[in-house]
Amino acid sequence: MDKIIVLIGPPGAGKGTQARLLNEREGILQISTGDIFRAMRSADTPLAREVQAVMASGNLISDELTFKVVRDRTSRPDAQGTYILDGYPRTLVQAEQLESLAEEQDKEIVAVEVDVPREDLLKRLTGRRTCPVCGEIYNIYSKPPKVEGRCDEHPDAELEHRKDDREDTVATRLATYDELTAPLLDHYRKTDRLKVVDGTGDLEAIYSRIEKAIK
Ligand code: AMP
Repeated sequence: MDKIIVLIGPPGAGKGTQARLLNEREGILQISTGDIFRAMRSADTPLAREVQAVMASGNLISDELTFKVVRDRTSRPDAQGTYILDGYPRTLVQAEQLESLAEEQDKEIVAVEVDVPREDLLKRLTGRRTCPVCGEIYNIYSKPPKVEGRCDEHPDAELEHRKDDREDTVATRLATYDELTAPLLDHYRKTDRLKVVDGTGDLEAIYSRIEKAIK
């Protein structure tokens, strides 16, 4: 049976980096709601402005809009097989919505918690830089680009420091995770669909733990 692989972890846990690696190496489609919302923000519409404001505050977009986005994206032809959800679900309501979507799509949910101690998260978030062209994620401490401030693949593009990775917003995002998202771990644990993976250490070591967990 095809799977929906759900990556759960606080901001800065490395979900995006690992999902991108799984995509590159295993060819598994990566769907990141954060990336979709970031792309939506740039339009000049009332909805785009609303998305922009909510993201800048570190809070969550509504469950309704988020579900719509996920339903649309996962109904495209390239999402017929196994896919990874990176950053979704983030609330119990979203988890319930995903249960019905999985049933409709005849897929099995596997949840992977990427477990990282709180002390490590801040450094990862403040050091994170992303390429505006391809979305590649760098870190000035642990995964620097070859040339400072430039994407290895797109040297013309200057790497961005996400606005919501600044310290004041990070506190809100971590609190939101504890309050709304962490309860999902129990939801998947109780139904025996949760794998916990140590998210510390070397990128490759984390990758092989995740790969093993989803096999
Ligand atoms: P991320 O890149 O996953 O950290 O997401 C960045 C921001 O996008 C979050 O702080 C939220 O404002 C919004 N977002 C992403 N995924 C979701 C979701 N599943 N539910 C609600 N808001 C989301």
